[in-house]
Amino acid sequence: MEHERENDAVDAADSSAAGSAGRDDAAAGSAAADSSAADSSGMDRRSFLKGIGVAGALAAVGATVVACSPEAPAASDAAEGTPASPEVAAEADNAWDTKPPSVQDQVASSEDHEVIVVGAGNSGVVLALEAAQLGGEVLILEQSGGATMWAGDIDACDSKLMLDAGYQVDKEYIIHDLMRYASGKADENLIRLWAYNSGAFVDWYQENLQKKNLDVMLDTIRKKFYPENFYYTNVYHSAFKPPLEATANPMGSEVAMPAMLELFAEAGGSVNYSTRVVELVQEAGGKVTGVIAQQEDGSYVQYNASRGVVLATGGFLGNRDMMDQLGVACHKYCTNHIGGDGRNGDGIKLATWAGADRDTSLAGSMLIFDRGCITAGGDGDLGGQGGGNPSFWWPGSQPFLRVNSLGKRFCNEDGPYDFEFNTAVQQPGHFWWQVFDGSSWEDVVNFGTTICSRVVAEEGAKNCLLLGQFYPCRDAQEWNDVYIQPNVDNGNLLTADTIEDLAAQMGVPADAFLATVERYNEVVASGTDTDHSKAPWRLSAIDEPPFYAAKMAGWALATLGGIHVNYDFNAVDKAGNPIEGLYLSGNDVGGFFNGNYPQLYGGLCMGRCVTLAWLAAHSIMGVEYPTPLESARAAFNTV
Ligand SMILES: Cc1cc2nc3c(=O)[nH]c(=O)nc-3n(C[C@H](O)[C@H](O)[C@H](O)COP(=O)(O)OP(=O)(O)OC[C@H]3O[C@@H](n4cnc5c(N)ncnc54)[C@H](O)[C@@H]3O)c2cc1C
Repeated sequence: MEHERENDAVDAADSSAAGSAGRDDAAAGSAAADSSAADSSGMDRRSFLKGIGVAGALAAVGATVVACSPEAPAASDAAEGTPASPEVAAEADNAWDTKPPSVQDQVASSEDHEVIVVGAGNSGVVLALEAAQLGGEVLILEQSGGATMWAGDIDACDSKLMLDAGYQVDKEYIIHDLMRYASGKADENLIRLWAYNSGAFVDWYQENLQKKNLDVMLDTIRKKFYPENFYYTNVYHSAFKPPLEATANPMGSEVAMPAMLELFAEAGGSVNYSTRVVELVQEAGGKVTGVIAQQEDGSYVQYNASRGVVLATGGFLGNRDMMDQLGVACHKYCTNHIGGDGRNGDGIKLATWAGADRDTSLAGSMLIFDRGCITAGGDGDLGGQGGGNPSFWWPGSQPFLRVNSLGKRFCNEDGPYDFEFNTAVQQPGHFWWQVFDGSSWEDVVNFGTTICSRVVAEEGAKNCLLLGQFYPCRDAQEWNDVYIQPNVDNGNLLTADTIEDLAAQMGVPADAFLATVERYNEVVASGTDTDHSKAPWRLSAIDEPPFYAAKMAGWALATLGGIHVNYDFNAVDKAGNPIEGLYLSGNDVGGFFNGNYPQLYGGLCMGRCVTLAWLAAHSIMGVEYPTPLESARAAFNTV
């Protein structure tokens, strides 16, 4: 497969400047640079977009979306000299993979390093720390002024913590369950590498955190399903600072990231903040040998990498055109996109221009929680591009009654967060109302939800402070002070003393809503949900004023599709050949999830990001994986 080659850059025109403020050591050097690729698979952009557009839209939301117009012109149309109309030209320019001009000729200086990691996020920092501890000279380039401090629940198989607590999981069952979740649109062996090495990763993570007086806990409190075992769900890990308090503990990356950055510096690593990578340096033969990054002052520096460049830029939730054009579609129904800032798809763009292949049919491939709230503050561009209202109603995942804009119940409210979201998006207006009453504290105690939807503190659970404001409560007063009153005050929660008044405030047909509440209370009184077969202990009557309602939509946390890699985490081209020197990590990596996110595997997104990043460090440093794929395969035959 022959590719034409020329320099490529990401948005050279609009990237911001950065100084080397956060720099710990000085390095200089330069290398010849030329790069980038044109697609030669015989599939031009028009047919590719057509494929994605139609499949994406129809699959995700039943043809209500024009995820990306199949008429979108290929950049090459313009290139072939056919006089493109201004609209066509503008749209071609707007294509997510339109390459900006190279900035190679503006490079002011260059430096030599062994490993360049692009992105001080959850996967980038894990990879950098392990590569440095394995003897590599590693530099992280981070566009913002600090590392990512969110996330932290980690799903893994057979860590020491799990085995000591008597938990041994059937990894082959999990691999096949995850392939089923992805409708087969994933790479089984990538999932297998996670399954057979994630335990060793957590052991390494715990060992390192203990050096900084931190530790890792195992949350073993699993959700009870109805019917029993209808779904598989896991136990999961989180970093914490001992001793654990009863609730509101800072946990996860918030405590782990500073410690890992300290360990990284002690291992000789360095981080440049406010340094945005805009271009890859690629030799004529295809090998990637470095990057060009824009500094805070607007100047460009070339960073050469003798062992490899790792792209770990966190996916593309912050790039709505890209989500549109790649047919993700569900972002349009998520009114809250907190998690997208700065995740503009840079890694995926850079790898694509270097010739890398990526996931196709990305409809619905997103980490979505059913906690976006649009009662107040506008509809968040629901059905447009989404992401216009950063409000949360954290207990949005509690299985209270849900009604649509017609005041009618439409589902079993006790499913995985994104399945509930997907069901509601099919309803008129693409939103839903969550309705509950004055006995809400007793109800949430009975519901017993777990993982990050947990709102009731429990011995042995991860009772952590999330996003600086949400945490599991110990009693009714705390529930009211943390969740109810603040949200009545900020308008997220409507409240009324009668159902009629609540219906009026919600703007739903009062007769229909009253009938729904009556029917729901009959079901609750009977003890069996003959309408939607919800678990009996998750039924709660709506009969005790004050009554509450929140208007809900999706919260998008991260995109899940990305670039195809081989089992050394090298990017691969459309023929499956590795692109030497180019590695991917985190949410930029494709082939693991597709079409939804397996919510009941709490912490799996992070679990795969950090485990595969850790393995990529082994690959770059030429060190064998704790369980190489072959042994994982061999293990399969012995299970
Ligand atoms: C609020 C929140 C909580 C989450 N909690 C969990 C959880 O508990 N468990 C779980 O499984 N998943 C969780 N996730 C999902 C997922 O694990 C996270 O998105 C995770 O941070 C992804 O890691 P990453 O390394 O791919 O990207 P990120 O951690 O997002 O890091 C990417 C980094 O790259 C930088 N960057 C981007 N472009 C450039 C560029 N051109 N040059 C230089 N730097 C660049 C960004 O600034 C960022 O620092 C959460 C997501 C969110 C938003």
